[in-house]
Amino acid sequence: MPAERRIAYFSMEIAIEPSIPTYSGGLGVLAGDTIRTAADLHVPMVAITLLHRKGYFTQRIDAQGWQQEEPVTWSVKSCLEGLPESFSVVIEGRTVFLRAWKYDVTGCDGFVVPVLFLDSDVPENNDWDRALTHYLYGGDARYRLCQEAILGMGGVKALRALGFREINRFHMNEGHASLLTLALLEEQAQREGREYFTSNDIEQVRQQCVFTTHTPVPAGHDQFGMDLAIQVLGRRDMIATQELFGANGQLNLTMLALNLSRYVNGVAKRHSEVSKAMFALEEVDAITNGVHAGTWVSEPFQALFDAHIPSWREDNFSLRHALKIPSRDIWEAHLSAKRKLLDYVNQHAMAGMSLDVFTIGFARRAALYKRADLLFHDVERLKRIVSSAGPFQLIYAGKAHPHDQAGKELIQRIIKAKEALKPSIKIAYLENYDMHLGKLITAGADVWLNTPQPPLEASGTSGMKAALNGVPSLSTLDGWWVEGHLEGVTGWAIGADYGHAATQEQSANDAASLYDKLEQVILPLFYRNHDGYINVMQHAIALNGSFFNTQRMVQEYVLKGYFH
Ligand SMILES: *Cc1c(COP(=O)(O)O)cnc(C)c1O
Repeated sequence: MPAERRIAYFSMEIAIEPSIPTYSGGLGVLAGDTIRTAADLHVPMVAITLLHRKGYFTQRIDAQGWQQEEPVTWSVKSCLEGLPESFSVVIEGRTVFLRAWKYDVTGCDGFVVPVLFLDSDVPENNDWDRALTHYLYGGDARYRLCQEAILGMGGVKALRALGFREINRFHMNEGHASLLTLALLEEQAQREGREYFTSNDIEQVRQQCVFTTHTPVPAGHDQFGMDLAIQVLGRRDMIATQELFGANGQLNLTMLALNLSRYVNGVAKRHSEVSKAMFALEEVDAITNGVHAGTWVSEPFQALFDAHIPSWREDNFSLRHALKIPSRDIWEAHLSAKRKLLDYVNQHAMAGMSLDVFTIGFARRAALYKRADLLFHDVERLKRIVSSAGPFQLIYAGKAHPHDQAGKELIQRIIKAKEALKPSIKIAYLENYDMHLGKLITAGADVWLNTPQPPLEASGTSGMKAALNGVPSLSTLDGWWVEGHLEGVTGWAIGADYGHAATQEQSANDAASLYDKLEQVILPLFYRNHDGYINVMQHAIALNGSFFNTQRMVQEYVLKGYFH
């Protein structure tokens, strides 16, 4: 089986299932959905990631509304199969020994895509090296670069040791994996007994690599000082680094990937425009993200689709027939999903929320640009909306990175708003956002709120999960929503389309626009024209669910990146 694999997909995080906590957010969920879909579509792929034996972290929120991080425990042995092969990579001049654990992702008719989790926690290594595959996004710059050397260079070694000999595409899902190009360059040179890389080597490697960039936020692109790069990777790599991969005397992993890939894409049309401007490049294609329908559709909607659109799992495009499903059945399925969410919220957050109140969902990483507190810009206005247009309740979730003080303060502001708005608006902040909670909230809310500061949201995928469950989005025009939004048909926009040069000032209007939409359009529709509301729900499924899925997305990668 390994000999038949053609595509190696590298990602620092992969969300396989809720019991394997080796992911932090959207990037990992996208990777998991990509792999699940590759298995459905028989794409000959193998995936590589790190084991992250101690996960990301478990989030608790204390009485002051402050995020506390607790360790995650999970049983590697009961989730993954340990492989006997041993291989190694040289880091900081030391040989670091590695092994791999395997998880088989099985598609809808039995085709398997193996996922390899690299593990440096073996007795041959010293304590520092053993810990390198423990924490996702943990530690300092040195730790990060060592991890990235294991993912990229160790990943190539793993493929060779495990018999994957026919790989002709290496897909870097974000720059974290881009050191794989150095491993390929080394192989190329070694084959000819050289210790340096030639421009021909670079061209040979470029023909095999594909790169997907995922963020327009500058801090999201890993950069390392040259001294550290030389310390960790050794001088041999610097020959090429100075020439091709350095920027301002730094090793920039995004530049490395950009310069050594035959095909580069951003994850939505707007994002590819923003990326071209940011990297001063002409060629950054767009493949808009999607989600794996079978994973993210709630059980009640699965049953409904099975009854009315039997082919929806193998053919997501057929979800356009959601327009034919009787509206009362759509509503019943939604009520079941909503009931499940509210039961959870009432049990875990003692929120006392009720089924007949309009429910707004918001769950994502607590990063500043996502502006989770935009809704609380004018608390008095918010209260007036309740009396003029009808009641609503709010469900929040999301983790801040442990070092992100501003993100933690954002969470705290929401929790303070919860006190300030009592009792007119009920608010719950659910702890420990993960795949399981993501599914529960995107399916059970009545509207999906998203407020990123344009143009900083590359794509976003949670709104796509909502759409598949008939939950319309209310969002600023950024990322995928620029493509998915049809006003009053698939959902609603907040503010205007600022293009890819949006400024801070323009965003001052967004809160006002958000209030207007809620008060004048959405709440009146929900409470006074219920069939009209269900019509928007149906269009969310038919127009957006049928398109913003990974089945369409992986087909684009196959055509444009893998077999082109
Ligand atoms: C879908 C998902 C994301 C991505 O959410 P966005 O709001 O689109 O960034 C992040 N985390 C989890 C747990 C998810 O399920």
